[in-house]
Amino acid sequence: MQFRDLHRQYEAMKAEMDQAMLNVAASGAYIMGPQVAELEQQLAAYVDMKHCISCANGTDALWLALRALGLKPGDAVFVPDFTFFSTAEAPAILNLVPVFVDVDDKSFNMDAADLERKWQQALNNGLHPAAVIAVDLFGLPADYDAIVDFCRQKSLPLIEDGAQGFGGSIRGKRACSFGDIATTSFFPAKPLGCYGDGGALFTNDDRYADLLRSLRVHGKGTDKYDNVRLGLNSRLDTLQAAILQVKLRHFDDELKAVNRVAAKYSQLLAGKVQTPVVPEGYTSSWAQYTLQTENRDDLQARLKAAGVPAMVYYPHTMSRQTAFAHLNQAPCPVADELSRTVLSLPMHPYMTDEEIETVASLI
Ligand SMILES: *Cc1c(COP(=O)(O)O)cnc(C)c1O
Repeated sequence: MQFRDLHRQYEAMKAEMDQAMLNVAASGAYIMGPQVAELEQQLAAYVDMKHCISCANGTDALWLALRALGLKPGDAVFVPDFTFFSTAEAPAILNLVPVFVDVDDKSFNMDAADLERKWQQALNNGLHPAAVIAVDLFGLPADYDAIVDFCRQKSLPLIEDGAQGFGGSIRGKRACSFGDIATTSFFPAKPLGCYGDGGALFTNDDRYADLLRSLRVHGKGTDKYDNVRLGLNSRLDTLQAAILQVKLRHFDDELKAVNRVAAKYSQLLAGKVQTPVVPEGYTSSWAQYTLQTENRDDLQARLKAAGVPAMVYYPHTMSRQTAFAHLNQAPCPVADELSRTVLSLPMHPYMTDEEIETVASLI
């Protein structure tokens, strides 16, 4: 059994996919071919945002977003303690100070009450609070009712890290539409993945959009040999854009399918382990189906012995990462607990009922 069976996905759309890839190969327009701008329009329409700016990966997307906000070295950027490393790495690499915020034990997402506490602590420690990065972990949008309110109140720009969230929603409003700037990743295993690395940013702000388009191509001005700032080489390949256009056509069906898989898991596992909680009005894109259990390591080993891959996302919180040890930040108790108890099960749109039942019966 595969954790995320990308081969089955390819087989399901093979004819269309092969044609799309061959078209790019034959066109010769490998960099910024027409598929890139077309995809950007389709993605912007999908999440109902004015601008989509594609880029090379989800980590660059975060870097580009932070640059567009114009933060100053030493500024504090609030990030969840329980996330993929990139969320905290991007501010750190720009000489910003990531401040780790604890998460909610049910949603796994940033705890708005702890955000307020960490904001106050940062001020007390003489830091300048400058931005918040909220993450839509495992496909579930963060608590934007509370977080957007808080950011408005404190005049903090909000970045939505929707690398895992694309396809989720809150009361019909789609993920990647909640931040002043939202980012996503098209890494193959993400809800919408390409055949390599890829990413995108979303914003309604024309000024941010112009800056992001400049920053992703070496800080270009009127053309790419007029460089008005330092940027990156962070374009999305035409080939990846063409692949994503095919996958986007199937994406709503895949979302329905992963929600069916999740519902079946939760029905079979209820009462045995803590199954994931989706708050009223929210939908998840199920980047991961993550349960909590006290004997996590035994369970993972038992599943593995039976040929079922289950993964620990994430074994280390940000405050306990070696790379951030010099920041000397207090660990976050809920994030610590999760890093000890979470286990993600095989999850993808092409799982059969039989496979779901096999996994559930082993648990
Ligand atoms: C995957 C991921 C990223 C980084 O995306 P890449 O395309 O791999 O660079 C950032 N944040 C989160 C939460 C992710 O899961």
